[in-house]
This record gives sequence, structure tokens and C-alpha cells, in this order.
Amino acid sequence: MNIKDIYELNIGEVIENVDLSQYTTYKIKCTGKVLVKPDDIKCLKKLISYIKKNNLKYKILGNGSNLIFVDDFYDGILIKLDKFNNLDINDCIVTVGAGYNLMKLALKCSMMGLSGLEFATGIPGSVGGSVYMNAGAYHNDISDILETAFILTDDLEVVQYSKKDFNFGYRTSILQTNHFVCLEAKFKLFHGNKDEIMELVNDRRDRRFSSQPLEFPSAGSVFRNPKDDYAGRLIEEIGYKGKSIGGAKVSEKHANFIINTGGATGSDICSLINDIKASVKKKYGVDLRVEQEFVE
Ligand SMILES: Cc1cc2nc3c(=O)[nH]c(=O)nc-3n(C[C@H](O)[C@H](O)[C@H](O)COP(=O)(O)OP(=O)(O)OC[C@H]3O[C@@H](n4cnc5c(N)ncnc54)[C@H](O)[C@@H]3O)c2cc1C
Repeated sequence: MNIKDIYELNIGEVIENVDLSQYTTYKIKCTGKVLVKPDDIKCLKKLISYIKKNNLKYKILGNGSNLIFVDDFYDGILIKLDKFNNLDINDCIVTVGAGYNLMKLALKCSMMGLSGLEFATGIPGSVGGSVYMNAGAYHNDISDILETAFILTDDLEVVQYSKKDFNFGYRTSILQTNHFVCLEAKFKLFHGNKDEIMELVNDRRDRRFSSQPLEFPSAGSVFRNPKDDYAGRLIEEIGYKGKSIGGAKVSEKHANFIINTGGATGSDICSLINDIKASVKKKYGVDLRVEQEFVE
């Protein structure tokens, strides 16, 4: 990859040798070769077209709240859609750019008396990453409120998807298989009682603070819950609360969280995940599935 070429594309901010501990909620020790923040769709298309022509590795980076960079160096191009942060709230219809912070959006709408995004006030992702993941909590998820979204396809066409096109499932969407880019989403909320909405939001925040190790860097729940059980319960039962490898440690507060106690590498986190999986499999015969994504 010739970084000079990327500057010459003149498509927005380019950061070389980027410290990825600043771009992931795990705060993993990792350096990215180059990170680009395209100014607009035209610039994004230009960048992806260059990437495809030169057969380069790349990754769309949201808020990095579900990612584990496996090695200490990522040699591809990271694309961050920070400039895609438009927001329009028209009655109950919210049109929002993929780079907008989901938690900020959820709180803003809740404070306006708009209901439907309360579940998201504790999810630290971007709008685009949350559509990709069909993020959710408390039996609600993005698919409950998404009406349509603009998507950039592999052929660099901007198309509008409706909810059914996303094939949403539990923490899954079609974007995980076709690798198209979410540019903007349209959510349909409804008018509610502002005090009641805020009471629910505050109650859930308190529940998260009392049950999750939010004082440490993490990427939320590590494993999906197996059918009719809880991953956290199984990990606690094998006595792994507090177990650590390097800077990665199974939280003592919530066994389905791995926290970074300082200087954790992707390799520390992967080793701990593999250790947990093997021990749970040995004792219970259960194959735990990782919810977080490994980036190599
Ligand atoms: C403390 C904590 C609590 C959490 N609680 C929850 C929870 O309750 N429920 C829940 O579902 N999740 C939870 N998460 C996980 C995480 O916040 C969600 O999965 C979130 O949706 C990820 O969004 P992101 O922008 O951080 O995506 P990233 O982690 O940056 O990326 C995830 C994937 O999305 C892709 N992606 C990002 N943006 C786009 C885009 N615009 N177009 C296409 N693909 C894109 C990336 O390439 C990557 O493959 C939690 C995380 C933390 C740290």
C-alpha cells in the first residue's frame, strides 16, 4: 500500500500509524497502518474504488465497541465515518448518519419524549455498527425501529434498503454477509410521556452500572447466551471470575465481560476467550459462541 496515493485521493483526514487503543472500547494495544475519515459519500466511493482496484485490505470502523484487533499491528485501511453524522428529527421520524453515536441519539430522543430507543441508551456503538449488529437489549433491538437505510453496495451504488432487506436476526443482519456499508438510517419512534421514558432510561442505566464493569475498558458481553441459559453463569460456575491472561481479565462483577486491566493485547483477550471456551465445553459440553468480532 502506498500511503502517498491515499493522501493524493484528497478525500478527507488521513491518520498514519494510528493508536487503536483510542478507537476501540477495549483500548487494545494495537497500531493501525492508516485510518481515513472520508468527507462524504463521493470521497468514500473514491476510497473504496481505490482499495478494490489495488486489492487492499480494509475495515469499516464504527465506535470499535464490538471489535478485537487480534495482532499488535493492523496493516489494512481503516475507514471511519465520523463525517456521516447528519441528524434530522421530523415528528417521529429520525434520519441519522451512520457515524452518529447511538447512545447520544437514544438519549437525545428520550429527552425529547420520543420512545423506541430507550434500549440503546447503554449501547456505545455508532448507528452504522448497530445496524450491522442489529444491536439490542431488554428484548428490543434496531430491527424494531428501523424503517429504511441507505447502503453502499459492492458495486459502489447507493441503494435504499427497507427493513425486510436486512434479514435481521438475533444480533445479525445481511450486512454481516454482504459487507455493504450502511450510510444513513431512518428510524420510526413514537410519542411517549417524557418523564416515564426518562424513568425507564435511568432505571436501566442504574441496572447496567450495578451489574456491569463499566469502570473498565471492555466490549460488552463476550459470548452469546446459549439457549435457555446464560454464558455468564457457565463461566462463573467453572470458577473463572477474576481469571486473567496478561492485561485481560474475566470481570469479577459480570463473568461474561472481559476487561482490560491495563495494556491488554488482542492476543491476551483471544487466549482468555479460547481458555473459557475450552473449559466450558469440557465441563458442560456447551459450545459458547463469541459475540465480538476478531479483526486480523
Ligand atoms: C459496555 C458495553 C456494553 C454493550 N452493550 C451492548 C448491548 O446491550 N447490546 C448490544 O447489542 N451490544 C452491546 N455492546 C456491543 C456494541 O456496542 C454493539 O455491538 C454496537 O452495535 C457495535 O457498534 P460499533 O459502531 O461500535 O461497531 P464496531 O465495533 O466498530 O464494528 C462492528 C462491526 O460493524 C461494522 N460496521 C461498523 N460501522 C458500519 C457501517 N457504517 N456499515 C457497515 N458495517 C459497519 C464493522 O466493520 C464491524 O464489522 C456493548 C459494548 C460495550 C463496550
